Amino acid sequence: MKLSLQKRILIFSLVVLTLTIAGNTWFSVDSFRRSYRDGVLRRCETLAGGLSRQVKVVLDLGLSLKEINGLSEKCQAVVENDPEIAYCLIEDDSGSLLYHSNPPYPRMLHAEFVENFSDQVNLIDTGSLGPVYDLAVPLYDFDDDLAGRVRIGFRNAVLDQLALEHLYQALVVLGGAFAAMFALILFFARRDLVAPIRKLCDMAEEISAGNFQAQQPLMRSRELNVLGDALEGMARSLRERDAEIKRNCKELEEANYELQTSYERLESISSELGRSREMYRSLLDEASDAILVCDEDDMIIMANKSAEAFFGLTRMHIEKMNYFSFLETLSCGDVEKQFGRYQTVRPGASADTELRFVRPADRKALIGWAVMSAIVGRDRKRLVQIIIRDATSEEETRHNLERATRELERLNQMKNTFLGLASHELKTPLTIIMGYLELLSSEFSDQLDEHAQDMVKQITNASERLAEIVRDMLDVSMLDSKTIDLVSQVVDPNDLVRRAADKVKSGLELRKQTIHLELSESLPMIRCDVDRMLQAIGNLVGNAIKFTPDGGMISLRTRLVERPRLPERFSQESEGRLCQVAEGLFPYVEIAIADQGIGIAEEDQDTIFEKFYEIGDVEEHSSGKVAFRSRGAGLGLTIVKGVVAIHGGAVWVESPGHDQETMPGSTFFVQLPVTESAPEQMAEQE
Ligand code: ADP
Repeated sequence: MKLSLQKRILIFSLVVLTLTIAGNTWFSVDSFRRSYRDGVLRRCETLAGGLSRQVKVVLDLGLSLKEINGLSEKCQAVVENDPEIAYCLIEDDSGSLLYHSNPPYPRMLHAEFVENFSDQVNLIDTGSLGPVYDLAVPLYDFDDDLAGRVRIGFRNAVLDQLALEHLYQALVVLGGAFAAMFALILFFARRDLVAPIRKLCDMAEEISAGNFQAQQPLMRSRELNVLGDALEGMARSLRERDAEIKRNCKELEEANYELQTSYERLESISSELGRSREMYRSLLDEASDAILVCDEDDMIIMANKSAEAFFGLTRMHIEKMNYFSFLETLSCGDVEKQFGRYQTVRPGASADTELRFVRPADRKALIGWAVMSAIVGRDRKRLVQIIIRDATSEEETRHNLERATRELERLNQMKNTFLGLASHELKTPLTIIMGYLELLSSEFSDQLDEHAQDMVKQITNASERLAEIVRDMLDVSMLDSKTIDLVSQVVDPNDLVRRAADKVKSGLELRKQTIHLELSESLPMIRCDVDRMLQAIGNLVGNAIKFTPDGGMISLRTRLVERPRLPERFSQESEGRLCQVAEGLFPYVEIAIADQGIGIAEEDQDTIFEKFYEIGDVEEHSSGKVAFRSRGAGLGLTIVKGVVAIHGGAVWVESPGHDQETMPGSTFFVQLPVTESAPEQMAEQE
């Protein structure tokens, strides 16, 4: 068991004080004893000396020692005068006792020698008196021969008795001092050492229990104050560390949480990856295209089901083959070239090639369109994935399409030829017919009855309609062959629009429609063939009237716009080639013809400009020039497009769609250039 500090101090001071007192007492008693003994011995010496001198005086007279009287009394007087002296005696030179004080005295011959102190003093043990300090002073006769000795002794017991008394005294004094010292040590040890150390211990315990705010108690001693300061400093640094640890702990917790979430995310990604890999495998297997995967050594390591079917080889057979031997097995045309192309595929890039081969199973010639792409695998090795699409039927379709295109081109050519031929061939007889009809209705009208006159009128109307169609056919034919005659004139576009509107006045009245003009002020002049332009705008306004229900409104708007230059499609040099569009914006006059009619479906908005194109069922056509939904030969917009294009302009239509119930309406836009290029082009044409 460990002792408390206080107990230790007590025990230590007890031991030290005891040892000190014991030592001190021993030294004190010992020195007292010595000094007392020496004092007694000196006294004995003096007494013995005095006696020996008295005896010497007598001996010097020539008497022998034995003859001297009264010496025993003198010896007795010595003993009586000093009670501490045990005996006084005189012996002769042989040691025989001659005179002595009253007994007890030691029989010297029987005394036992214990210790010699000096020439004259010995410690002897006499038996009856115990240890005795014996002083022997020699006596000489007149011849200076030894005559005897004076011996005085005192008992050691006397010394012991005195030393014991002295010891008691010393013990009493030192015991008191011991008690006082002990009490003082105890008091100061408690006040200045034990109590402050306890307080510091309490403080240390508080700190160890986690209270880093512990305050240093007030200390008396500097060292303990320093210790307290050190403890407080330790508490402060522990507090800071605690805060730091808490912060780090929080960060650690956050990091741990993040780690946990990333681990979970990683796990889900990993399982997602596993699923994706599975999915990739099954997708690859289920893919409609044949897929092969080749490794770094050009060995086919994977082939899907479609590859088995397409190449007519089992997967086991394909997957053991080198890609070169695979191509050879398929009797591929130009194996080296195909293999070379395969070898040049680098990661990140892809290459495609046409594979023509004969399927070994049924000797059928097939065409595959192979797309090769290289990837770098996990072991940094190149893998090439080849996706082969069966292009055999596509090739056939392409052939058929090419044939159909050629056929269409031929038919188109025939149509153009027919247009030219028919218009020319119809024009002459029609002129003759109309001439005769004119003659009939003017010169021979009185010879014709009412019924015949009505018939002539019907024939005249039909002929005029036919003549119009023939004229349109002729115009289209001339526009196609670029043989149309144009007269270049500078004209105000607003004026053109007004004149076109004037021309359709009767039609508008018939259909109870109104026309609204929104003409931009100060438009620049344009150069064009006025009649042809009027014809084009007239066709557009005519269509607007035809496809707008009775009571509807037609709007004609003009404005100046800026747009990129239109390709100069009709210049000699760009024949058959795509014309370049000049950079920058150029001024154009825009004429917009908007109606409130049936509208045009989006898919028809381009095709209506083609020759003879009619939307819907021809049976539904009504006749009449301006009747609702009446249609002509499908050449009106072709002429518009041809005329506008030959002037370096553009025409298009915008409409939300076709609906005969809601009447969404359509807007035709014509843009004509106002730059110098327009007249130049026209001059070229002229
Ligand atoms: P047509 O002279 O027979 O009318 P077009 O070339 O002028 O032939 O027009 C071709 C077709 O375009 C018309 O049959 C008609 O269906 C459609 N179309 C032209 N203009 C309009 C319009 N303003 N609104 C609705 N449809 C139109």
